[in-house]
Amino acid sequence: MSSLSSVDPQIAELVKAEERRQADTVKLIASENYVSKAVLEATGTVLTNKYSEGYAGKRYYEGQQVIDQIETLAIDRAKSLFGVNHANVQPYSGSPANLAVYMAFLNPGDTVMGMGLPFGGHLTHGWSVSATGKWFNPVRYGVRKDTGRVDMDEVREIALRERPKLIFCGGTAIPRTIDFPAFAEIAREVGAVLAADIAHIAGLVAGGAHPSPVGHADVISTTTHKTLRGPRGAMLMATSDEHATALNKAVFPGLQGGPHNHTTAAIAVALKEASTDEFKAYARQVVLNAQALAEELKGRGFDLVSGGTDNHLILFDLTPKGIGGKPAAQALDRAGLETNYNTVPFDTRKPFDPSGIRIGTAGVTSRGMGVAEMRQIGAWIDQVVTALAKGEDEAEHVIGRVHAEVLELTSQFPAPGL
Ligand SMILES: *Cc1c(COP(=O)(O)O)cnc(C)c1O
Repeated sequence: MSSLSSVDPQIAELVKAEERRQADTVKLIASENYVSKAVLEATGTVLTNKYSEGYAGKRYYEGQQVIDQIETLAIDRAKSLFGVNHANVQPYSGSPANLAVYMAFLNPGDTVMGMGLPFGGHLTHGWSVSATGKWFNPVRYGVRKDTGRVDMDEVREIALRERPKLIFCGGTAIPRTIDFPAFAEIAREVGAVLAADIAHIAGLVAGGAHPSPVGHADVISTTTHKTLRGPRGAMLMATSDEHATALNKAVFPGLQGGPHNHTTAAIAVALKEASTDEFKAYARQVVLNAQALAEELKGRGFDLVSGGTDNHLILFDLTPKGIGGKPAAQALDRAGLETNYNTVPFDTRKPFDPSGIRIGTAGVTSRGMGVAEMRQIGAWIDQVVTALAKGEDEAEHVIGRVHAEVLELTSQFPAPGL
């Protein structure tokens, strides 16, 4: 980064500081990961200089000899990795990708059904503060109080009553397998388009560690930067020509201008990496690690939503530990354990100060950590939370000790790309 350092030393220093922070921290944020050096290099290329509104072979600017090849490669790799007929790699991120699904199949005021945000759904699945909840008519499903899992009979009941034109399955804090065939049957029954939002689990689907929505969902939406381990971006996939045409029109010219070609190239690189046997092993290990961490936490008296995990994600309620999610997440961060506070289903506290914490194993698994390290991390989480519940003084001492041990661990597991 010699040019950056001389042109803008302030930003260069801050980038270095963030790199150090990432190296020294145990990243447990379920939506994050570490991309490879190759993905980073593709992101920082001259491709950012080029405008290419339109699609390969039908652009509104000249000079697309190279960009067309890059975008076509990314599309072909997405199609072959996920086994779909069509892919659009232009959405700027997951939220705009989902907005394109509405634009493709709904008119303002039409009914959309999605999982409620407090139950693990995403803002863009029709939550009230989102454009998708303001401009469309949202109806919501949740999870059962006794199981913490989606009740497909309830989903069917709501769908039959409300007749949504679009149904979203998937979400942002769901620790369990999504039953794509059951959602597809309900969508068929009510004549709705089924969109599977696999933003969180795309890497697991690609690696064969979670069932695929292909053959069940009409549309598949995903970010590329979570378990899939690519740059910040998104993709929309479809099986039928008709759905694909509608999605393409919605992305451009419906919602976006020029695609971010440097991101497209980095997505292509990530998709190539995700098609290797090494990545399949990674996806399997992500799940094994999450299950090991879940077992450790359960053994230490943590209340896990749904009692465990099938994927990379664990959501736990800190009420039995006598402390809120926010102070716990802040204390864990000071100990070098990076998490986020999160609502839990049927939360009695406010969204900005909820009862739970969400963690995931995509990042730590990318660093090569395994089951033994997960047990250690579970013990640290317990030690910090338990000390915090006893008071600040007790907590300071424990946080200091855990932080030193975290630095020892992170130094043994260098993160990719750093
Ligand atoms: C992360 C996420 C999104 C949105 O992605 P952004 O890139 O943050 O806009 C959409 N849907 C789900 C389920 C997600 O987890």
